[in-house]
Amino acid sequence: MNNPMIGLHHVTAISGGPQENIDFMTGTLGQRFIKRTVNFDAPDTYHLYYGDRDAAPGSVMTYFPFVNAGPGRAGNGMARALAYAVPVGALDAWIGRFAGDGVAFDGPHERFGERMIAVRAPDGLCIELIETARAQGDGPDDGFHGATLHIDRPEATARLLTQVFGYTDEGVERAGDATRRRFLAAGRGSVIDILSDPSAPSGRPGAGTIHHIAFRAKDNADQLSWRARAVEAGMDVTPVIDRQYFNAIYFREPGGVLFEIATDPPGFAVDEPMETLGQALMLPAQYEGKRKAIEAGLPEIRFPLPLKSL
Ligand code: ZN
Repeated sequence: MNNPMIGLHHVTAISGGPQENIDFMTGTLGQRFIKRTVNFDAPDTYHLYYGDRDAAPGSVMTYFPFVNAGPGRAGNGMARALAYAVPVGALDAWIGRFAGDGVAFDGPHERFGERMIAVRAPDGLCIELIETARAQGDGPDDGFHGATLHIDRPEATARLLTQVFGYTDEGVERAGDATRRRFLAAGRGSVIDILSDPSAPSGRPGAGTIHHIAFRAKDNADQLSWRARAVEAGMDVTPVIDRQYFNAIYFREPGGVLFEIATDPPGFAVDEPMETLGQALMLPAQYEGKRKAIEAGLPEIRFPLPLKSL
């Protein structure tokens, strides 16, 4: 039997225009811009990556910014929120910072005994900051707390998380008709909440919605082992796909959310130095010959702001 799942590797969302996305993720949330590349399936669109200062798995948020994307709607069958971990006592500084910068947020609220706020990105994506004793560092470098999936009938997803992935069931919190069931792994980005809310609308993909969440495999062999277990559990899993910075497999879990399992290696320093991650447009080998045309077709973006510390 495998070791249990470590936690999240990355989360990928669809955003509006790339500049607003860069300004929000670096300027407002203080994330490091770690990779500027293109959507490998549609190279006229950027694929932008953000993470902690080490570009470590469990901190990596990626976006496909479509300038003309219609707004999506978080709802049933989708991941609906991503949460970053902040150390206990650090949330008030973030609240002060958002208030000072005119960034709208909801909260603070308490969830499973932890204080949290929810921020809306310019395209509407819900990003939460949650105070947790599991956080290690000084805020932007703490990586993910976890993600919330919106699933009306969560039983099959819960079985996948606990019986295949090895998450522990942490119980349920209720708010009105809605229930939030929490599952916990051991590593960074270890929390998966399943929100079931009969009054919520169905999800609609588009700007401001999460496309998929990716769990971590520690290497290629570990990934193949996870693949075999997911197939055995009845999932329709893709073959291994080379995503340049990791290998990926994908499947739709029983509640409808697109899951990925991504390898830690080779990582984001495979094609440029760790010190200068994100500064140049990186293209995989199959597009390098078309670099000029690809660059000409991409919207212009200003170089990301330097990291602001609190
Ligand atoms: Zn992915």
